[in-house]
Amino acid sequence: MSAPRPPSVDALARSLASSGLPHPLLVDVARAAIADGDWEHAHDRAANLAQSLLQPVINATGVLLHTNLGRAPILHEQHGRPVNLEFDLATGRRGSRQASVGSLLARLCGAESAVVVNNNAAAVLLVLSALAEGQEVLVSRGESVEIGGGFRVPEVMEQSGARLVDVGTTNRTRLADYRRGLSDRTALVLKVHPSNYRVEGFTEETTVGELSVLDVPVVADIGSGLIDATCPWLPSGPPPWLVGEPAAVQTLAAGASIVTFSTDKLFGGPQAGVIAGRAVLVERCARHPLMRALRPGALTLTALQEVALAYLRRDVTTTVPFWTMAATPVSVLEQRAVALGVGTPVALEALPGAGSLPGTTMPSFGVVIDGDVTDALRRQPTPVIARVREQRTYLDLRTVPPDLDGGLVAATRAALA
Ligand SMILES: *Cc1c(COP(=O)(O)O)cnc(C)c1O
Repeated sequence: MSAPRPPSVDALARSLASSGLPHPLLVDVARAAIADGDWEHAHDRAANLAQSLLQPVINATGVLLHTNLGRAPILHEQHGRPVNLEFDLATGRRGSRQASVGSLLARLCGAESAVVVNNNAAAVLLVLSALAEGQEVLVSRGESVEIGGGFRVPEVMEQSGARLVDVGTTNRTRLADYRRGLSDRTALVLKVHPSNYRVEGFTEETTVGELSVLDVPVVADIGSGLIDATCPWLPSGPPPWLVGEPAAVQTLAAGASIVTFSTDKLFGGPQAGVIAGRAVLVERCARHPLMRALRPGALTLTALQEVALAYLRRDVTTTVPFWTMAATPVSVLEQRAVALGVGTPVALEALPGAGSLPGTTMPSFGVVIDGDVTDALRRQPTPVIARVREQRTYLDLRTVPPDLDGGLVAATRAALA
């Protein structure tokens, strides 16, 4: 039972200071708690509010690109100093925010030119708006897909002002189907990688190479941002879990005029989208009025540049967290699991995540704990996110940087206490 006389709002707010929240938010919490006759739980209310803020977490789910945890983790830090975002240091004149990062990405993809927008949905929207507004775009019925939360090809098409022309069937679309769909209103052929599902059995798709014989540019939304299918940055080449994933270099080499992809999936960078390909087409995207609304800021472009340089140096496995996680030998994870000293070491299967590579897994190792302790793990000072199966909690070490093993152990002990 609550005390009959409520405390003053100010006194209650001041008593919540240890939550670390700014005073005006504590006043809101105190006021609401008093209004609800629930002031004895004001500390819990403040803690819940603090927990709702963005904060670093330990991802022990084994999902490398966890969409709810911001997809690819990045190392980028700001130093409170300006950068030459639109300033040419050589001439002292105004420069282009796209020129430098764009040319690094073009270099990586083997493209003539590239520009960066806020995400891949924005990239596809901009390409369709700039290159096909008021005209027709051919899309295979098997690729008229929904990806993630709300990226639906027909709806993006509608927003762009381009008209979708469905060709072929859900499971089989041949070159002849595309030919039948062509008219003098056709601006583009759009190929969309159905990242998050697979049609199995009696299927047939027309490749970018086959489509490149048509008289219209082929735009390929490859989705995940794998740069090169040969993975020259991995000493032993492409791992089995990557097989079949379309890559920018090979898609452009096969004849695509444009590729678009996210940079926070297999690329391993911050959230952004890339449009790379033939210079005349990329230029038209860059000059379109929507570009101003879709362009990223200095924070994103600087972080993206770091990742692009890492690919060119071929040291992504030590400098890009996604590739560090992906390249760690399972024997190393097993040693860490044994050394943790909590739970029981267990072999696991990690997932690439971000809706990419459905059905593929990579070998992993972690520990299993009896019971569902995920709630207590999330409430630790550094929240730990874990998975539960059949009333057992699994902590997968593939997604935990080794320097956080100590923090993971401390959080787990506290959660179990
Ligand atoms: C992920 C994905 C998208 C959406 O990309 P965002 O960067 O999340 O906007 C679009 N198309 C494909 C094929 C994808 O895999």
